[in-house]
Amino acid sequence: MVRDDYEVVIGLEVHCELSTKTKIFCSCSTEFGGEPNTHCCPICMAMPGTLPVLNEKVVEYAVKAGLATNCSIEKNSKNDRKNYFYPDSPKAYQISQFDKPLCYDGYVTIQTDEGEKQIRIERIHIEEDAGKLNHDEYGRGTFVDLNRAGVPLIEVVSKPDMRSSAEVEAYMRKLKSIFEYIEISDCKMEQGSLRADVNVSVRKKGAKEFGTRTEMKNMNSFRNIVRAIDYEAERQIEELEKGNKILQESLRWDEISGRTFSMRDKEDAQDYRYFPEPDLVAIKLSDEYIENIRKSLPELPESRKKRYIEDYELTEKAANFVVASKYYSNLFEEATKICNNPKTVGNMIMSDIARILNEREEEPDALKFTGKELGELVSLIDKGTISSAIAKKVLEELFNEVKMPSKIIEEKGWVQISDESAIKEVVMKILENNQQSVADYKAGKDKALGFLVGQAMKETKGKANPQLLNKLFLEELKK
Ligand code: ADP
Ligand code: MG
Ligand code: ZN
Repeated sequence: MVRDDYEVVIGLEVHCELSTKTKIFCSCSTEFGGEPNTHCCPICMAMPGTLPVLNEKVVEYAVKAGLATNCSIEKNSKNDRKNYFYPDSPKAYQISQFDKPLCYDGYVTIQTDEGEKQIRIERIHIEEDAGKLNHDEYGRGTFVDLNRAGVPLIEVVSKPDMRSSAEVEAYMRKLKSIFEYIEISDCKMEQGSLRADVNVSVRKKGAKEFGTRTEMKNMNSFRNIVRAIDYEAERQIEELEKGNKILQESLRWDEISGRTFSMRDKEDAQDYRYFPEPDLVAIKLSDEYIENIRKSLPELPESRKKRYIEDYELTEKAANFVVASKYYSNLFEEATKICNNPKTVGNMIMSDIARILNEREEEPDALKFTGKELGELVSLIDKGTISSAIAKKVLEELFNEVKMPSKIIEEKGWVQISDESAIKEVVMKILENNQQSVADYKAGKDKALGFLVGQAMKETKGKANPQLLNKLFLEELKK
């Protein structure tokens, strides 16, 4: 996409809302939505005289995130006050972390066209989310909803290690997948639980220094992140080619016009005057505490991948695909336990299940059926009860209503026809009606057999046993 003589450089600040039951400094609910200003109390509304108390779960979740992304954990951490005024933040400051983030110096591994690549993580710190401003459509003004104020966040700051929008997408997907595995967030991007500030610069290939970056804030869809980076890189290259300078500024991505616009606020000109938060005590963590969290981590994608290749003989491609989502991976393991056919289960996830999700514009977390249903489905194919063509139809049904596949095929009358005389009848009929194909086959065109089998499948609505069908056709054609 980007011109050959330029290189794009991207670094991400990813915000992830933690799925603790209560907010970071009070006991209000973190639940998404709700009537405006109903998940609030004097603490998260910043009434004078109130004091915050740090929710221990927030520290635990952040340490989990750090350990799962190969970070070192800071045993002497603290909170800091970041001063800025914006009407969605009633305190006029945000409690965050400045010089002692909980986690630092980590990395995650992504797959690129050139193989694996490590994206370094500079730091992960904890902070509180702000409320939300709702601009009234009738022009009566702007209303503030503080339900989100005080919802715990981690911010994951990457090094500027990414070199294309594809790498950024892979990195974001990897973080999302890890956070789903360790169950620290629902990672619902459409609800803003996972969102990224995207920093983009360009430089001539081979240049030593980075170019000046611009930043697009609060991006919450993969599609828009990719489009915005590609657009912004092109724009910067054009400016440089015209002899202009890039201004370090925050930009707004407009998905309708597919362009970025200046927000006219120079992020770097801001002075947050950070100082240690006086209302909170330091966060001191023992080795034992950290080790206990490490032990509690579930098996992560890298290790699952290795195991799927070694123990289940999945291809690298299938293994990568399955472990990319906790929902796929758990489905895979549960189904395989039942049918003992990892290869078919893996293929079904990679082809049919992924395709149907894609058609429905859903992510794997939307899957309603479990390994119980998928495992039985694969067993039914293996036993010859249904063909793989019917299995695809059963899968479609499973997306509409979760039922045991044996029940679905019974209700729909989809049991495979393996009765030789019944199939023979169909074969004779198809041969009779397709004399040209018969002649073609006899003249050496092997492809004609495929056509005849296809016709027979159509006739039986996919229910004929394919091996038997092939065998009977061949017998007749050789006569
Ligand atoms: P700030 O906190 O002011 O936004 P940082 O220096 O902490 O600035 O960087 C924020 C993000 O910007 C990091 O993810 C970093 O990787 C990225 N970044 C820094 N310099 C560049 C650059 N020249 N091009 C692209 N990304 C950059
Ligand atoms: Mg920034
Ligand atoms: Zn509260």
